Amino acid sequence: MHQIIIIGSGPAALTAGIYASRAGLEPLLFASSVEPGGELMNTTDVENFPGFPEGIQGPELMEKIQAQAERFGTQLRYDDVTEVSLDGDTKRVTTGDGTVHEAKAVIFATGSAYRKLGLADEERLSGHGVSWCATCDGFFFREKTIAVIGGGDSAMEEATFLTRFATKVYVIHRRDELKASKIMQQRAFDNEKIEFIWNSEVAAIHGETEVTGLTLRDTVDGAERELPIEGLFVAIGNDPRTHLVHGQLDLTPEGTIAVDGRSSKTSLPGVFAAGDVIDPSYRQAVTAAASGTVAALDAEHYLASLEDN
Ligand SMILES: Cc1cc2nc3c(=O)[nH]c(=O)nc-3n(C[C@H](O)[C@H](O)[C@H](O)COP(=O)(O)OP(=O)(O)OC[C@H]3O[C@@H](n4cnc5c(N)ncnc54)[C@H](O)[C@@H]3O)c2cc1C
Repeated sequence: MHQIIIIGSGPAALTAGIYASRAGLEPLLFASSVEPGGELMNTTDVENFPGFPEGIQGPELMEKIQAQAERFGTQLRYDDVTEVSLDGDTKRVTTGDGTVHEAKAVIFATGSAYRKLGLADEERLSGHGVSWCATCDGFFFREKTIAVIGGGDSAMEEATFLTRFATKVYVIHRRDELKASKIMQQRAFDNEKIEFIWNSEVAAIHGETEVTGLTLRDTVDGAERELPIEGLFVAIGNDPRTHLVHGQLDLTPEGTIAVDGRSSKTSLPGVFAAGDVIDPSYRQAVTAAASGTVAALDAEHYLASLEDN
């Protein structure tokens, strides 16, 4: 039986791996067969992770964090966890090939997924003008004309934040009214750099190496028109990856795994969670890494308490 199994391979999981392996707990980490490395594998420049004054490419950063986790003995497997059984002292984790792995403690760091528009060129231009995170990428859009897609609070927040950099921000929304709270709406309406385009959806994203424009489709009459822009922020929601634990762990109203205060302790003893899967607000690489630290330390204390009994 393993001491700790970690599920995920983003900054939260790998940082948990660094701490747990340096504590001599030889964690087994399931990194996913399809998208190991987490969300930062989808981006180019990361300029806000401390320690890299010149910035670093997302995949290179993840390679370094993984190497650091492996250096101390984290055993990494490129497998997907398909099922978990979390109650009782022995936790069971099943992988894609049907193998069942047992551990005394489990750390969930499965992240969250930004909702996509589902357009052909969206992934291709990710990191080249298409983004899902204004905090991460707003800085790259100084003096540019950009568009934000969405009508909720986060779309209004992103649009307002982006006016610090951009010369013009279009907010494109499918309907003729917003879902956002009145105060967030008013803030956006009052901002002279923001222009609303109502009853419109994105039919296509254009650009060879960088985004150059959009084709917009009117949701009422279907008419299409071109909108030249240099950046596109998709703010239509975010889904924490919690399907493995539905019915086993408590979730918050926002859909994240519920944890006890500032700890990583979930509703079941010996089960810990870290990173974007517990975070409805900040969702940054460095906050995820810090959260992975908390989970490894909580798991370590839990394992020590088992030995005391
Ligand atoms: C385009 C983009 C750009 C970004 N830029 C920045 C930036 O510049 N700076 C910054 O600080 N943040 C940035 N972020 C946010 C940052 O990437 C996330 O906050 C961070 O990666 C969250 O880390 P995490 O470890 O919680 O989860 P993730 O990075 O999402 O990793 C979770 C991992 O778990 C794996 N997983 C899920 N389920 C399973 C399973 N069942 N079995 C096995 N594995 C599983 C997934 O495949 C994934 O690899 C960006 C995000 C995006 C999308």
